[in-house]
Amino acid sequence: MGVEHVDRPGGALPWSCPRCGQDLVRETTRSGSGPWRKTKEWWNCPGCGWLGRPDLGDRPTLHPFRRLTGEYGECVFCGEEDCNRASEAFVYDDWLCEWIVCVACGRENTRRIRPAPK
Ligand SMILES: [Zn+2]
Ligand SMILES: [Zn+2]
Repeated sequence: MGVEHVDRPGGALPWSCPRCGQDLVRETTRSGSGPWRKTKEWWNCPGCGWLGRPDLGDRPTLHPFRRLTGEYGECVFCGEEDCNRASEAFVYDDWLCEWIVCVACGRENTRRIRPAPK
């Protein structure tokens, strides 16, 4: 895992924090082994800790994530603590869900939080 300053590619992605306006810093995590091995990019705000993940469909947008701690920070796959990062909640199949990404082993899953309000 490393934190580095990079040249902004093409200027497509927003690179200042939507919350406090500071320049975002790119962090790349490499995780897992075998078929689970993945490289992920995260954009961190050194000021307020805002965390974003580039859109996987190459749209010029960052999806806000947050770090999970405690019970919810533990990866259900590898058991590592405080390694889960969660997207903002979204509704899927009448459930309010969040997308969980483990930065230790690289596995991802969708967690159902509660039935979505009608
Ligand atoms: Zn910020
Ligand atoms: Zn894991």
